[in-house]
Amino acid sequence: MKTVFVDVDTQIDFLFPAGALYVRGAERLLPAISRLNHFATEQGIPLISTADAHSENDPEFQQWPPHCVAGTTGQSKPAETLVPGQIIVEKQTLDVFSNPDFRPLLDRLQADRYVVYGVATEYCVRCAITGLLATGMAVALVTDAIAAVNPEGGARTLAEFVAGGGVLTTVQEVTGQQT
Ligand SMILES: [Zn+2]
Repeated sequence: MKTVFVDVDTQIDFLFPAGALYVRGAERLLPAISRLNHFATEQGIPLISTADAHSENDPEFQQWPPHCVAGTTGQSKPAETLVPGQIIVEKQTLDVFSNPDFRPLLDRLQADRYVVYGVATEYCVRCAITGLLATGMAVALVTDAIAAVNPEGGARTLAEFVAGGGVLTTVQEVTGQQT
């Protein structure tokens, strides 16, 4: 079975209280995200990191406060989440599948299983897991490496994901190590 890790939008604007679109509690995920990304590199597991990269007057800012403007510190990823060989896929909307390069990348990687984590559960993570489930491959969501904007929205996303055939997992289960 070939696994690919998908690290969703773990960018400074989302992860830290001073970020432009902070997801509450997300900074506590940093050790888990770092462990998963480093584990992927060590094990030779392809790692896709999705990243919001907006222009200054991006249409998305009619619905959300400005965030992740390309070239800003807030748009970058914390050093702990950067590993050699990771594939960064930038996007201008919530859904990584809106990047025309994403599907061809998945085709090239030929995974049987995706392991997904990041922020925010009921927005960009939800788009990613929904699209990945639709490919027909196995999808696992790492529940201790995600954070929701709204707890009810997060819970709804998990229920919907499981009902759609997704599997819930943990960092320890994925890495086989203590976190
Ligand atoms: Zn955005």
